[in-house]
Order: sequence, then C-alpha cells, then structure tokens
Amino acid sequence: MWIDTHCHLDAPEFAPDRAAVREQARAAGVGLCVLPAVQRRDWPLVQALALQQGDAYALGIHPLYVPQADVQDLQALDDALGAARGDPRLLAVGEIGLDFFVPALCEPAMRERQWHFYTAQLRLARQHGLPVILHVRRSADLLLKGLRQVGVSGGIAHAFNGSAQQAQAFIDLGCALGFGGAMTFERATALRELARSLPLDALVLETDAPDIPPQWLYRTADARASGQPQGRNTPAELPRIAQVLAELRGIDRARLAEATSRNARRVLPKLERWA
Ligand SMILES: [Zn+2]
Repeated sequence: MWIDTHCHLDAPEFAPDRAAVREQARAAGVGLCVLPAVQRRDWPLVQALALQQGDAYALGIHPLYVPQADVQDLQALDDALGAARGDPRLLAVGEIGLDFFVPALCEPAMRERQWHFYTAQLRLARQHGLPVILHVRRSADLLLKGLRQVGVSGGIAHAFNGSAQQAQAFIDLGCALGFGGAMTFERATALRELARSLPLDALVLETDAPDIPPQWLYRTADARASGQPQGRNTPAELPRIAQVLAELRGIDRARLAEATSRNARRVLPKLERWA
C-alpha cells in the first residue's frame, strides 16, 4: 500500500470529480492520502473529505495564505485542534512554513508576518502534541531555526529541495523529507542525488496534487501556447513517482512502499493506531 503524505484533494481543481479522483488513486494502490489544509476557510472541507474517504488530514495556515489570513485565525486553529483532539484522522499541524520565492512574500513586513504565523503555529503544534507538515521554499534554515526554538516533535519537510546538510538537520529534528513530482525531472540532478543518497528511513512520498506535476504530465509554456493542456496531477500518480525513486535507489517497489509507509507512520504517529 502507498501513502500519499501530501495531497490537496480539497483544492477547487478537484471540485468536479473528487470522489472519482480518490477512487482512481485507490485502484492504483494508494491506500491513504494525507490532506493538509492551507487556510481556515478550508478546514471543515478537509475534515469532511478525510472522514468520507477514509483518509487523514492536517490543519494549518499555509505561508501563501498568510497575506489574507487574520491573526484571529490562530486562535481559531487552537480551538479547531482542541475540538479534534480525539479525532484519529487529525495527524499534524500543516501546511505551515515560510516561502521566500514569491516576491510579494519577501518584503520585510511580509517576512515578519510569515515568521509570526509560522512560529505561532509551531507553538500550537507543541501544545497539542502534534508534528508539523512544512512548506519549504528558499527557507530551510529559518524553518530549522523555528523548529529548534519552539521544540516541535518532528514531522515532514514537504517537497524538500535543499542541501544535504539541510536535509540532515531536518532528519536530526525528527523530520522525514517528502519527495514527489519534482524528482521525476531528469534535469533535477541535485534533487535526484539527494533522493538517491539520503537514508531510506528519512523518505516519504507525496504528489502535492494538484501542484507539482511529474515530468510525464508537465507541458512547457510553448506546448501550452500551442494548445496542449497541462496534465492534471492527482494522487493516482504516486506509484509511478515511487517507481522513479525506486529506480534511482536501485531497490524494488515493494521494499520502497514498505519503508516509506513505515516512515510516514513514524513521523505522523497517530497513523500507527489505524493505518
Ligand atoms: Zn502543499
């Protein structure tokens, strides 16, 4: 069984056919999807989808949604985490983090605001005894600093793309590293080298659907201009993404499935009880 540790099934892209998308993934061998939330408005949908589909979820405020978030959303998150305390499907606080790629988010005031929301959510994770699902984009060192300062008990550095030293620092803090579509591009040589060389027990798999399409779904801007549609990334792509990782590491798929599922249960410990 495969676990897609990061999949935005609540995204509007899936509104027309969510149940069918989930069924396709199940037919492809994806037994569990972890649905991280990106903003307060979506928390009820993420919870409802996880319940309907037999999946799991995280609650949080994503850095790309920090500009429009309200500071009261942090109190609401505290309340929502408290209300879901006994819910075995609530695995983590996420998706939270820092994004220093999007120019508008790099302005000094917005960096400050991102840091405030990130560290406040880390404190909530600690208080509620939950791990975190982290959005890492040009922000690994500051994310690590926050984890150390607040003392959170691990989680997942999702769509990891940093140095081997940064990877090791996340591992030392109890995090697994999420690998997905970005690794399927042959030109992603540094990322593929990491995927090959990091310890197997540090890796989890993810699609980040509908974002980060794998190479076989990706269409260049030129191709799109000439009328070829961008393929839609869905959790059903996970086994094929996993195949790429298995080939990079020279191991068979069964061993990779077993290892990455075990890793997911270790860093998202509430999964141990039921998945
Ligand atoms: Zn995400």
